[in-house]
Amino acid sequence: MLNYRDGLADMPLYDTREQDWNIKVNANESNIGLPPLVEDRVMTRLSRIAFPRYPNEEYDLLCEQIGEAYGYRRENVIIGNGSSEIIEKVFHAFGGNQEHRIVYPSPSFSMYAIYAAAADATGVPVPLRPDYQLDVEAFVQQVNQSQASLAVICNPNNPTGQILTVEEVEYIASHISCALLVDEAYAEFCEHSVIALLKKYPHMMVARTFSKAYALASCRVGYMLAHEDVIDMLAKTYMPYHMNVPSLVVADTVFQMRTEFEPQIQMICAERERMQEQYQALTGLTVYPSHANFLLIHYAQAEALNEDLIRYGIGVRSFGKAPGLENMLRISIGRADQNDEVHRIIKAFVEGHS
Ligand SMILES: *Cc1c(COP(=O)(O)O)cnc(C)c1O
Repeated sequence: MLNYRDGLADMPLYDTREQDWNIKVNANESNIGLPPLVEDRVMTRLSRIAFPRYPNEEYDLLCEQIGEAYGYRRENVIIGNGSSEIIEKVFHAFGGNQEHRIVYPSPSFSMYAIYAAAADATGVPVPLRPDYQLDVEAFVQQVNQSQASLAVICNPNNPTGQILTVEEVEYIASHISCALLVDEAYAEFCEHSVIALLKKYPHMMVARTFSKAYALASCRVGYMLAHEDVIDMLAKTYMPYHMNVPSLVVADTVFQMRTEFEPQIQMICAERERMQEQYQALTGLTVYPSHANFLLIHYAQAEALNEDLIRYGIGVRSFGKAPGLENMLRISIGRADQNDEVHRIIKAFVEGHS
């Protein structure tokens, strides 16, 4: 018998296997891709990489770019292999034993519970209200009662799409003293970010990603802004040269050219509103208002509907028996023709089963 660490055998494995979908709207990736101008620049940059060398100034340059864009310094920025790595490291840094409690809403990003367990911490889920709004008071109370070491908010929330106002996040930040991580993976699709609050609340961190709005899921790049003392501590949890140069230079190019993405982000938001109306018009479906690049839909026969979609080569995200997400499907917003096709198949199924 191999002697693995305690608890490892019981850890779930995040299943990333994929079918060859005709339409893939299950992981909130971009279905549009890089704007041609950006792609050209990316290819030029890639052709100039010093492949035999460990990363050198590329990491600091991207930190500097990102910091500057939000009115901070490069000392306030950390970059990770996707915001996933950053979130995992934050959980690691504030975990360590069962007395370290990590509080997050539920349902939310499913990895929070897994990262809490992996960090040997105690995960404390706070249930959302039936309309999926977070009761901020109850959240604050739970954080304080648990004497938590870390509170986590996903804003806008995945997979429910709902959002907290800046005032609500500030209410949380000002009523707790432990670390507060705000996961803004979908912030580009909504009206506001809480990054400006960092100046006032040095116990706050904001994580962002290139994987969703910036169509760069392949490169695995995310970043986090926080007080430099927090960044210094977190930096100790990473291995040296943890980011690879190809991903760094691609992310750097994308970040410099980020205004090129505005038309597609606007298109996705407009499509989201259009599709919300279309789905809402179908009998038996409940669509939750979303501030991200996906819609969450409740349908009594969600499993059967999902099977039907799979038959047509359409991949949506089904949550199976996950608590608070029974009979829910999450559908990423793609191009208009893809959205219409997904809707057409759902409409035919629903009308054939009513
Ligand atoms: C997609 C996602 C992330 C992480 O994405 P990366 O590709 O690792 O940057 C983090 N949080 C939420 C809520 C997400 O949906």
